[in-house]
Amino acid sequence: MIIMSVTATKQQVDSVIKELDKCGLDAVTTTSTNRAVVFPVGDESHTDLSHLLSFPGVKEVMVVEAPYRLINRELHERLGWHLDYKVRVRDLEFGGSKPIYIAGPCAVESKFQILRTARAVKAAGASVLRGGVFKPRTSVHAFQGLGNTGEAEEALFWLRVAGDDTGMSVVSEVRGESNVNLVAKYADILQIGSRNMYNQDLLTRVAKTGKPILLKRHFGASIEEFLSLAEYIAAQGNINIILCERGVVPVGKGKSFTRYLLDIGAVPVIQKETFLPVIVDPSHAAGRRDLIKSFSYAAIAAGASGLMIESCPSPAEARVDGQQQITPDELKDLIITCNGISQDVREV
Ligand code: PEP
Ligand code: MN
Repeated sequence: MIIMSVTATKQQVDSVIKELDKCGLDAVTTTSTNRAVVFPVGDESHTDLSHLLSFPGVKEVMVVEAPYRLINRELHERLGWHLDYKVRVRDLEFGGSKPIYIAGPCAVESKFQILRTARAVKAAGASVLRGGVFKPRTSVHAFQGLGNTGEAEEALFWLRVAGDDTGMSVVSEVRGESNVNLVAKYADILQIGSRNMYNQDLLTRVAKTGKPILLKRHFGASIEEFLSLAEYIAAQGNINIILCERGVVPVGKGKSFTRYLLDIGAVPVIQKETFLPVIVDPSHAAGRRDLIKSFSYAAIAAGASGLMIESCPSPAEARVDGQQQITPDELKDLIITCNGISQDVREV
C-alpha cells in the first residue's frame, strides 16, 4: 500500500502506478482521505516495493497481509477513514440509516406477473424489485428462467417497466459472462448468485460495468473467502458492493429443517471486517415461508442494512421457489415490524 503525501500531485501518483505496472502489478487509487493511497493489485509477494519510498510524493510504503485490503475496515481506519460506505442506487442508500427492502418473485415469468407483483410489493414497503431472468438451476430439466428462451430481453424489459411504473430500482442475476451486457442494460443492480461467488472472471467482468453489485455468499464459503472474492470487484475500482448473507450448508447428520443454515453472526462480523453494507436473504436460507418473519427480525436486529425477500401475490402459482415466497400482505407486516426493530437497535 503506497500512501502519498497530502501535497502529492497527480503526476506523482501516476508515476507510482507506472512503476507498479513495470513490476507486473495493477493499481487501485483511493482518495477517500485527504491524500491518495495506491493499492497494488496482484501477487506482490516476490516484489520489494520499498524503493517506491524514494519516489517524489510518496510518504509511506506499507506491507499489508490481509487477503482483502480495498474493502478492509481496519486498514482504512488506520488511514483516518472512519466510514460506513453507502452504496447509492438511484435515490436509495444501502448502508444508510434505514433498512432497504428488496422484494419480488424468484423469477420473472410474464409481464402480467412482474407488473402485478411490483405494485403489490411496492405498496407493502419494498423499494427494490427483484426478479431473476437467468436462473442458476441445479437440474437442466428445471425452469431456467426466461433467459434461456427467446424472451430474455423482453423479460428484462418487463422488469424495468415494472420498476419504472412503481418507482422502484431493479436487481437481476447475471449467471455468466455472456449475460452481463444484457442484464446491465436493464437492471440498476447486478446480482451475482451464491453459485457464482467463486467465479473470478465473472466478478471482474461485472465490476467493469461500474454498476452496483449484489454479491451473495456461497453456501460453502467462509467469511474470509466471501470478502476475498468481493475484493475482485473492488480491484476493478468498483466498491459499490452490497454483500448478502443467504445461508450456508447445514451441519450434522439429521434434519436441519431449513434449506440452509442462516449465519446471522456473519452480519456483525462482516461489518467489523469491511465498510461495505451487508444485507440478508431469509428466503433462500429458510426455504419455507413460515420462517421468513423470524429470520428477518433476527437479521435486522443483528444490524443488517436490508433484506432480500421473495414475495408475490400468488406463491402457489410460482414456477420457482413458491414454497418460500410470502404474500405482499405478509411482507407489509414484516416490514413494519423490521422498521421498528431497526429503530430500537439503533437507539440502544
Ligand atoms: C436468487 O436470489 O435468486 C438465488 C438463486 O439465490 P442464491 O444464489 O443465494 O441461491
Ligand atoms: Mn429463488
